Amino acid sequence: MQEIKLLYLYPDMMELYGDFGNIQVLKYRCNQRNIKLTVDEYILGDNPPDFKNYDIVFAGGGADNEQTILSEDLIKYKKDIKEAVESGTFFLLICGAYQLFGKYYKGVEGNIIPGLEVFDYYTEAQPDRNKRCIGNIVTKVTIDGMETEVIGFENHGGQTLGVDTPFGKVIVGNGNKFEDKEEGFFRKNVIATYLHGPLLSKNPKIADYIIKYCLERKINKYDKNSGKIELEKLDDTFEEKCRKQLLDKFIKK
Ligand code: GLN
Repeated sequence: MQEIKLLYLYPDMMELYGDFGNIQVLKYRCNQRNIKLTVDEYILGDNPPDFKNYDIVFAGGGADNEQTILSEDLIKYKKDIKEAVESGTFFLLICGAYQLFGKYYKGVEGNIIPGLEVFDYYTEAQPDRNKRCIGNIVTKVTIDGMETEVIGFENHGGQTLGVDTPFGKVIVGNGNKFEDKEEGFFRKNVIATYLHGPLLSKNPKIADYIIKYCLERKINKYDKNSGKIELEKLDDTFEEKCRKQLLDKFIKK
């Protein structure tokens, strides 16, 4: 049986608006295909995780307070995390976690939370704490040669700047900053996004992209020429119906 190993960072501190659902969706879609998804959790005070052992690293959203508390711990793993990103481990990062992988996060009071500096973007909150990007959001994403609408929910004060490779183009909602045209950060093995929802339950194609990526990476480790794999198709009739309803509601034609 094929296995995908996932490391879930700070599940007790970084989990907003159902972010954990992303793992449940990955597990469900793996199980349907007879693939085992193993999940290990890392919380503050645990022994250091061995990032090399994992196919996916996941971290969810968290408020400024939690980000401040854990950033010192996270930065201890800066080198390991950079190496994991460079070696192709998949990173799925939502909202607060997305921000912490950049250069820094500047809070409402001007306080600086240092980031991992894995990527060059940075985030600054509006001085007025009531000014937040909140609401449903739809973006257009091109991934693995396919174009799809990605649906989610955003709630962030942080305005992320300096993103050179965004995840999606905003159709409805704000994105990386107020009334932005772009949302998130993307690399072949990194999806960093403001979209809660949870992201993968509303966008099963993105879940399948991640699963496929991980399986192909495993195969290519042993045989560089083995190329692409095809994932077994699942019956997404129900998911597609839900998506249609949401898209009809959010995109006013
Ligand atoms: N604290 C961050 C902000 O408000 C992240 C919030 C979140 O993860 N939803 O910008």
